[in-house]
Amino acid sequence: MISTSLQPLETPSPAFICPFDQACSYLDAAARELKLDQGLLEILSRPRKVVTVSIPVKRDSGEIQVLAGHRVQHCDVLGPYKGGIRYHPAVTLREVSALAMLMTWKCALLGIPYGGAKGGIAIDPKSYSVGELERITRRYTSELIDNIGPSVDIPAPDMGTSAREMAWMMDTYSVNVGHAVPGVVTGKPLSIGGSRGREMATGRGTMIIVREALAELGQSLEGTRVAIQGFGNVGNAAALLLHQAGAIVVAVSSSAGGVYSEVGLDIPALKAYAAKNRGSVVGFPQALTISNDELLTLPCDVLIPAALENQILEDNVDRVQAKIVAEAANGPVTLEASQALEARGVTVLPDILTNAGGVVVSYLEWVQGLSYLFWDEERVNREMENLMVQAYKQVIHHAKKRQMSLRLAAYTLGVGRVAQALLDRGLYP
Ligand code: NAD
Repeated sequence: MISTSLQPLETPSPAFICPFDQACSYLDAAARELKLDQGLLEILSRPRKVVTVSIPVKRDSGEIQVLAGHRVQHCDVLGPYKGGIRYHPAVTLREVSALAMLMTWKCALLGIPYGGAKGGIAIDPKSYSVGELERITRRYTSELIDNIGPSVDIPAPDMGTSAREMAWMMDTYSVNVGHAVPGVVTGKPLSIGGSRGREMATGRGTMIIVREALAELGQSLEGTRVAIQGFGNVGNAAALLLHQAGAIVVAVSSSAGGVYSEVGLDIPALKAYAAKNRGSVVGFPQALTISNDELLTLPCDVLIPAALENQILEDNVDRVQAKIVAEAANGPVTLEASQALEARGVTVLPDILTNAGGVVVSYLEWVQGLSYLFWDEERVNREMENLMVQAYKQVIHHAKKRQMSLRLAAYTLGVGRVAQALLDRGLYP
């Protein structure tokens, strides 16, 4: 494996699974398959640019706190950098670097002309007021002003951020450059050039990939029993769309724990309940309370981790009962756990395919903005579905042809396209 100069900012615990090392092992496996030249692998293993900025923020109490904000730009060989902004206490530079690398392969796999990036601030957004979050987001954006832009690097929402933060970023960037620049972010509100269908896009993409994988096994969504970890942007959209398609969503969870119903949860009612309880599903009537760990090991057909990375690992993989594990989150299944599941015949749908609906609709938002044309939701969903199904078919075809896992097939396709573009562009100077 390539060693890099990226060091964790904190002292890792013995059980620490480094997300950047995980991302590099996926790259290494794809590189071996592609017989990539060692020099090319060195280039692809390192982010092109790593930016860490200090964000001084005045709390509502008057106290001044200084936060660290990261933006990692992995590779822009195919187009501008693209990737979400995460607000979560577990954010580290290594995690952001890993997620930036995944974005590069994801965009290449989906055939969209972007490179990979990611940003993040290690905060729990629930511990900050709306005013404090606005001050943090605006200062972070202004510190990054020379590193982002509609043809340079285009942020989007990720864990802990939403259309609201994207609007603050767009406004801060626009005020600084002196004119409105809607294309600097995607996932923004409709009122300032957001796309219809963006909010549900990652969940919709997940539903489409699960539907295709079930069809491969001769099954349909109707009556399929699903458990979903995470009930945020991705988890709750996936739950609603699967429920509407006739699947039985037996369990969902948020950070404080989960709920289970043998006969299936009423997802619209659960959505309304969570909205009134700061996103928490715990205490939802007519459902049993379960822990997040119990959710992962419930009897079900499809398990969708849609929260954090490293949720299915050596400790609990033997207890996972699902026939399909769909990675709606980034990196929720470790490499070893993934191999153990595949050895048991479980279909593991890899993150760079399963959760690509969000970046696909971000791309469609950018295209609509650049052409000053805005499409109806039906068209956005159709265009997204075409790209997702096409990528799914390519991954399945490649996996069958090369007798490899879906993950390795997806990475091989993504990495291979970026490597080919690098070769065609040549090395400057
Ligand atoms: P979000 O902040 O909207 O929601 C996260 C959800 O996970 C919340 O319900 C939260 O309570 C829950 N959660 C947090 N910690 C948990 C824990 N320890 N156990 C169980 N649940 C926990 O975030 P999101 O945008 O839905 O993103 C979820 C995942 O999907 C992330 O891995 C993200 O990188 C990935 N993703 C998001 C998008 C997008 O468009 N938002 C696109 C691609 C991938």
